[in-house]
Amino acid sequence: MIDHRRGALIGLAVGDALGAAVEFKSPRSFKRVTGYRNGGPYRIEAGEWTDDTSMALALADSIATAGWDLNDQASRYVEWWKTGKYSVNGRWFDIGITTRSALGNFVAKKNALTSGDRSNRASGNGSIMRLAPVPIRFGHLYSDQLDELSRLAEESSLPTHASEQCVSACRYLATVLAGLIHAEHRDKVLSPDWKPLQQLNDIKPLHPLIQEITQGSFRQKQPPANEGSGWVVKSLEASMWAFHDAETFEEAVLRAVNLGDDADTTGAICGQLAGAYWGESGIPESLRSGLARMDMIEEALEGIVGLTKRGISMCGRLTLRSSPKARLNRFCVRRTTG
Ligand SMILES: [Mg+2]
Repeated sequence: MIDHRRGALIGLAVGDALGAAVEFKSPRSFKRVTGYRNGGPYRIEAGEWTDDTSMALALADSIATAGWDLNDQASRYVEWWKTGKYSVNGRWFDIGITTRSALGNFVAKKNALTSGDRSNRASGNGSIMRLAPVPIRFGHLYSDQLDELSRLAEESSLPTHASEQCVSACRYLATVLAGLIHAEHRDKVLSPDWKPLQQLNDIKPLHPLIQEITQGSFRQKQPPANEGSGWVVKSLEASMWAFHDAETFEEAVLRAVNLGDDADTTGAICGQLAGAYWGESGIPESLRSGLARMDMIEEALEGIVGLTKRGISMCGRLTLRSSPKARLNRFCVRRTTG
């Protein structure tokens, strides 16, 4: 399972880095991506990643350090935005419109439960792009405590993306990732009849547009109907299209980024799926060794997985307890050694 958990985060960063050079470009307006390349709107170096990975690293750091605390998560996103911490080159250089607005609200009011816009008009893909740390860290809740996993996934979206579409997308994607991390077969996990999907809808019905994806809309469409859109619904659908019948990690992620437009984020979402499914060992060595600042990704993994490639670096025993204080701290996870 460690291989799949590590694969989900490394896959996110690989997909992000592969797409970065063609972000905002129309499909077929660029030479087909086959590996890392320089350039893109932020003129980054080959193998460097963008806000998708930075926010995932901030989320992972928050979970490892503070347990489950939405204000802490939002504070770390602000730290990235304002200081460049968690950025591949130490400089902040990219942020989504919805994220910027929500973090501005958080800076003003200091409440991550209300900082995200709840309107469906504000349904960007910014919370699914960074989601992997949640199923990586809390995958043990699969599958007999799906209500808890679903709630954590939902809450992780709220600081920046509080719309029903975004929240539903996070609940569904986190459950799919947890299933893949547990080495469930892809066809079973993506099936409309998948039992955990039925349980998710019993807990709280998914948004109808996310429901269409769960029923297999991604199987019916080909580009240009599938597009690298910034809208959470189209973005999740395109990522699942790229993943669902690919034969390798590389094939899946390259399909995703070659849709263009929000290529880095389609790549990051597809990379989470493909990495969780094929594991770190399924990611080609050239893509792993070419990834910039692997030390930052290793550090994040050490915090949420507790294992490094070199072996056990710490012994994490986790206690999940309810906090009487507020919804913000509904799940307070304390890590103790021993
Ligand atoms: Mg990005």
